[in-house]
Order: sequence, then C-alpha cells, then structure tokens
Amino acid sequence: MATTAIERRLLVGGEWIETGDWIEVRSPYDGSPVGRVPSAGAEETRRALDAAESAMSEPLPAHERAAILDRVASALAECHDEVARTISAEAGKPLKAARIEAQRAVSTYTMAAVEARKLAGEVIPMDASPAGEGKIAFTLRLPVGIVGAISPFNFPLNLVAHKIAPALAAGCAVVLKPASQTPLSALLLAELETEAGLPPGWLNVLCGPAAEIGDVLVEDERVKLITFTGSSGVGWKLRERAARKRVSLELGNATPVIVAADADLDDVAARLAAHAFSFAGQSCISVQRIYIERSAYDGFLERFLPRVAALQVGDPADESTDVGPLISQPERDRVLSWIEEARAAGAEVLAGGELDGELLRPTVIASAPPDAKVSCEEVFGPLCTVTPYDTLDDAIALANGTPFGLQAGVFTNDVKAALRAAGALEFGGVTINEAPTFRADQMPYGGVKDSGNTREGPAFAVREMTEDRVVVFQL
Ligand code: NAP
Repeated sequence: MATTAIERRLLVGGEWIETGDWIEVRSPYDGSPVGRVPSAGAEETRRALDAAESAMSEPLPAHERAAILDRVASALAECHDEVARTISAEAGKPLKAARIEAQRAVSTYTMAAVEARKLAGEVIPMDASPAGEGKIAFTLRLPVGIVGAISPFNFPLNLVAHKIAPALAAGCAVVLKPASQTPLSALLLAELETEAGLPPGWLNVLCGPAAEIGDVLVEDERVKLITFTGSSGVGWKLRERAARKRVSLELGNATPVIVAADADLDDVAARLAAHAFSFAGQSCISVQRIYIERSAYDGFLERFLPRVAALQVGDPADESTDVGPLISQPERDRVLSWIEEARAAGAEVLAGGELDGELLRPTVIASAPPDAKVSCEEVFGPLCTVTPYDTLDDAIALANGTPFGLQAGVFTNDVKAALRAAGALEFGGVTINEAPTFRADQMPYGGVKDSGNTREGPAFAVREMTEDRVVVFQL
C-alpha cells in the first residue's frame, strides 16, 4: 500500500519550523515521493543549542522524565501501523522488518523509563582507607550536558530512539540530526515526544547538510557528548575533531559466523538465510561471512541454498516481501561491482549475483579470495560468503581477520568450544546458536576495533550520558 506523501517540519525550541529549503524523501523502491522536510544549516543548529541550553537550566525531575518516556512507549504501540509504514516507505525496508523495528522502539522507550527511575549515585566506603577516616562521601549522577546525536538511514526509528530516549532518562537535552534519506520516522518520534509532554528545547531535530550541522555540533562547547551511528570513516573523523568531548561511536562490521559440524544444520540454515538478507543486508550486524567446518560444508549448503532461493524479493510495502531494495541505485551498483570483482578473482556465485527487475537478488559467494572486498570490507547488501575451515582456531582467526569487531556468531553443541570462541573472538558481542544479527534493546550493544568505542542499550547509554560528582562530608 502506498503511503501518502508526508510533509513534516523541524523541531527547534518546541516550535515546528520551516526554512524555505526542502529535502525531498523518495522511495528507494520506485523513486515515488514519500515526503519532504525543511533543510536547515548552521544558524538553526545554533538556535537549537540555545534552546537545549535553556531547557537544561530548569532540570526535569526523574519521575517526569520517566513518565514522558512511558507515554512515548504507549504512543508508539498505539500508532504501530503508521510508524511501521513510515519506516518502510522512506527506507525501503520490508514491512515485516519495519514492524519489528517499530515494536523494538517501544522496548527501547520502556527500558529508558526504567533507567530514569533508578538513576542514582553510590555511597563511597570512606573509612576503607586511612585518608577517608572521619568522612562520609557519595556520588551524584548528573547529566553530562547537551547531547548532539547523528543517526543513520537503516534503522530510522529505533536507532534514533536509542539516542534520544536514554538522553532524556539521563536528563540531557538533545540536538538530533537524522539521516537525510530517512528523516520522517525521527520527526514522527519527535511529535510523539512533544505530545507526551516533553517541554520545549529538550529535543530539537534538524535535517540538512551533514557536514554543516556536524561542524556546529563538533565546534560548539555546549555540546558535551556526540553520539554517532553510521559509517566508520565519518565516525572516527568526528571523534578526532571533537577531542574535548565524549564521542560515542556505533559503526560498521563485516559480520562473521562460525558453524561447527556438530551444530543443528537445519536450524543454522534457517537462521542464517533470514539474517544475511533481511533489509537487503543493510544492518551493521547482517550475516556476511559464514565459516563452516569442512565436514559439514556440503550439508550446510544443501540446506541453506534452497532457503535463500525461497526468499521473496520485491516491493517493501508488501507484507510477504523478505528482501527489498538497497537504499539507492549507486549503493546497489557498488555491491554488484564487488560481486564482479570477486568473480573475476575466482569466486563462484552460488546464488543471486544478478538483478531481479531493479533489485539485487540474495547472493551467496563461495571461494572468495580473502582480499576480495566481499571478504574483508562491510558489504551492507544482500550478500554472504561461505568458506570451509579445518580447525576452530582457523575459524576464529578468519573471523578476527578484518578491522571490524561488532558482533560475531558461533553455532556448536560443544559448550567448551562455544566458550573458547566467545573468549577469543574480538567483538563487542558473541551469539551462540543464534545469528549475530540478534539484538534485544536492553543488551549492551557496540563494538571494538574499527566498529566503535561505546555500548548502547538504555542502561549503558545512560551511564555514558551522565557523570559522577563526588560529595565529601567531614564529620
Ligand atoms: P553515514 O553515511 O556515515 O551517515 C550516518 C549519519 O552521519 C547520517 O545522518 C549522515 O547525514 C551523517 N553524516 C555524514 N557525513 C557527516 C559529517 N561529515 N559530519 C556529521 N555527520 C555526517 O552512514 P549510513 O550510510 O547512513 O549508515 C550505514 C552505516 O552505519 C554502516 O556502516 C553501518 O554498519 C553503520 N551502522 C552501525 C550501527 C551500530 O549500531 N554499530 C547501526 C546501524 C548502522 P546525511 O544522511 O545527511 O549524509
């Protein structure tokens, strides 16, 4: 079902503003207009920071912050269909995946409300050292200050929720810049926050030229923390430039999975076929590199390839579609060129590798050389490689062999092997007998190496968005 084109305004200091310039949002599936939003620049960003500063000068008590977060969770659940259709229309995300994202955002808000209610410092055992004798001390957990948030296109609702809900729980005002391709879900969420009673200035949402808005967030000293989710190149550059701020980075991955011969291959094939291609692989933890113990290699492919072939490729608005478009034609053509590069280097395309109409079919590649882009860079498309291995140590070395370290998966019925792999895999998260694409919103989620330097999930994000002030009493 087509969504009627939506016009939304930007939120600055509690007012919905226009700028005279517009960003057109088009369907990645067929290019039809989905909506438009005003395009703002440095001046509006500074106004948003003024509003955030003035909001934070009158702190909101924790019970009010929690109640607002709870009301947003309820509102998200009530308008589930509109929210899911907005995500699907602007991102080209199949509706069934968009529905999951919309439901997950309810959890994110619910968990953030819990964190707002339990935010507290701790008592320091002062007489544990001679220096502290005769004193009592405790810490206050205080908001770090204004948060600048920058979010990507691929989870246009829930990754925004993972920034703005913990910030409110922590007592921080936010200036948010969502991805230009997908601003509508973020602005819908901002509307739900204002309807839930959020006073002016606590959340400001600006769309527009990324570098111009980003520069103000980097340069303005009032911004104490930048929380960024997106590509590694942009993220690490921001951190370099904002040396005096906290900069929380959630970046890319080239997600590996190890499949031991003792795993339940039917279960593995079902999970990996779903998780290598959902949203056309445009998730930072989409399954990309599958390493299978040599004795199970053929058995795995016999089960996996028919499941890949059965995936429904088509219109994201259709409830039965599994795999829709990539976010843009240049992105689709990039992935196609990576497939050609691997093929030219001797790889074998076992499935897909070609277009179905305008859409890239789910692609499975064998014998890809280790230095082919599909083996060592983040594909961010509906593509996985399959590679046999001989020993668990070999598989772990292969999995660790890229600069990324977000999540990895291991399928085995050997508990000792699972625990050994969990210890040796250099990733922020390891899933056992589940695809590494799995994420529940209360989990600590984030990467090591090039994949980032932080953990999201409301409890963990609130920790980053607050700081301890110690109070010492002489008795
Ligand atoms: P991107 O191109 O890096 O864009 C992300 C955000 O950064 C967008 O809002 C973008 O704005 C903005 N941006 C771009 N250049 C900027 C600059 N110079 N200064 C400030 N902001 C700037 O990434 P994407 O293509 O949207 O997202 C895909 C990437 O995100 C993948 O690498 C994926 O793995 C990663 N990701 C990571 C996680 C995680 O939790 N670890 C989750 C999801 C996605 P415009 O849209 O206006 O260009």
